[in-house]
Amino acid sequence: MNTALMVSDLSVAIDNKQILDGFSLEVPFGEVHAIMGPNGSGKSTFCHVLTGKSGYQVRGSASLNGDDLFSLDVAERARLGLLQSFQYPTQVAGVRLREFMLEAAEELGLDLGEATARIETESERFGMGPFLDRSVNRDLSGGEKKRSEIFQMAVLRPKVALLDEIDSGLDIDAVKQVAEAVEAMRSPDLAVVIITHYSRILRYLSPDRIHVMIDGRIVDSGGSELAEELESGGYEALRRRLGIEKVVEDGPVRKPADFFTETPFDV
Ligand code: ADP
Ligand code: MG
Repeated sequence: MNTALMVSDLSVAIDNKQILDGFSLEVPFGEVHAIMGPNGSGKSTFCHVLTGKSGYQVRGSASLNGDDLFSLDVAERARLGLLQSFQYPTQVAGVRLREFMLEAAEELGLDLGEATARIETESERFGMGPFLDRSVNRDLSGGEKKRSEIFQMAVLRPKVALLDEIDSGLDIDAVKQVAEAVEAMRSPDLAVVIITHYSRILRYLSPDRIHVMIDGRIVDSGGSELAEELESGGYEALRRRLGIEKVVEDGPVRKPADFFTETPFDV
């Protein structure tokens, strides 16, 4: 079992605000892992730091197929086979999707014939034909943008794909379609990390492992029973089971009773 992605003891801060704290994850080739976590737990930050967005104070290590990621720039990480699909895909006015894909494929060393053939096949498969000659993500609906992200992944065939909230903003049919596409792309040369705060997509996808992320670290890992627990009790129930206190940003919450203890009764 070869390790595709290895992340050890990752700590990330921005402007002295700690976002990830002791985050570790190992994903073997051929597997699909899900990271579930409430809003604000640091899921997108994890993706941004891995792909090389600047501005973070980073400690810890991350490697792709044994190559250290943090010593490489964004383009080098992509060339190694790292792909992030964005929670909020950016509109790129003036750059057509077709040209964008050809350019990206060339960067990866694909010849023009192979790149054109993949674009043809995958655009057909994901119904992206009408978007190929439009600007990247320009005026696409939320669902179309997410479909475009999956299409790009299918063309570029990364080694490690980080799919950040690929299911958010999608109607239920589209969630099912995306989940099926991810299952169909399973391969011994690919590791997928599906990031979500809903368990909905996991009804149509069978991840090899589910990790729960709270307050910047993985707090529990397991199989489908973990998704079921979250579906029935939410993150609060999991916090209670694991004894994780909710972090309150602006000092401790004071109950009415706390104020009464300050009342000087004996004066
Ligand atoms: P998630 O994707 O799990 O919802 P994020 O990684 O987007 O969480 O954010 C985690 C926390 O870090 C949030 O509290 C968010 O407000 C904060 N955060 C993210 N980016 C920045 C930034 N550039 N500056 C300050 N705080 C940030
Ligand atoms: Mg996010």
